[in-house]
Amino acid sequence: RNPEAFQDFIATINQKLNTIDLEFRKSHDETDGKAVWALVNTKGDEVVKLATEYSPIEIAYFKHLIELIVTADDEAFSVSSITALKEASKLKTTITKNTAENLLQRFVDDKWLILSQGGRYSLSQRTILELQVYLKEEFEDNLIECTLCYDIVTQGQRCDVQQCKSRLHHHCARRYFSSQNEKICPTCKIPWKDSNEIGEMRNNTGAMRSRRRDRRINDQDDYLQDYC
Ligand SMILES: [Zn+2]
Ligand SMILES: [Zn+2]
Repeated sequence: RNPEAFQDFIATINQKLNTIDLEFRKSHDETDGKAVWALVNTKGDEVVKLATEYSPIEIAYFKHLIELIVTADDEAFSVSSITALKEASKLKTTITKNTAENLLQRFVDDKWLILSQGGRYSLSQRTILELQVYLKEEFEDNLIECTLCYDIVTQGQRCDVQQCKSRLHHHCARRYFSSQNEKICPTCKIPWKDSNEIGEMRNNTGAMRSRRRDRRINDQDDYLQDYC
């Protein structure tokens, strides 16, 4: 109940953990803003942690997926199911479509990936937190920090001004704008439109986005039509 005592407690634990390259880290779930804690490896070889659950081929596939997601065009930070499945045939040791499908489901079940209603995969909070060092080392140029909390942001909002670097988590934007008189960009001060989203929603056109509200279930068909 005492935040300072808790901070001290975490600091003490982290001191001990750091000697074995581990650390407790706090973050917020990008989808609902809830606080999450994770025990993270502070070295870049974090992905080896998956080795207890996955085979080397499966890990290779996961790394390919991470790359597709992180380097997606226009800050979409997601990959369609179809592209994700196609990627399986590009591995050095290829896996069948069926195996890839099952594997994708496992990545979702184990909370490494999130599958949206629209049929797109994005990084889970677990991946962002636990594989943070790996992500930052591999994709320094692609990852974006939230202007307000400095954590990695892959689902959120961005400033309408192209040159402006402002990116906000949805939950950070909500909290920030509720304490401001005007809804303007914290960096360049132009009016802020929360409809300029980054992440999985980015891939929807305006028309699809408004349909999404009424008929969520049909989104998957829209995507398939788009890609086939
Ligand atoms: Zn934030
Ligand atoms: Zn701005």
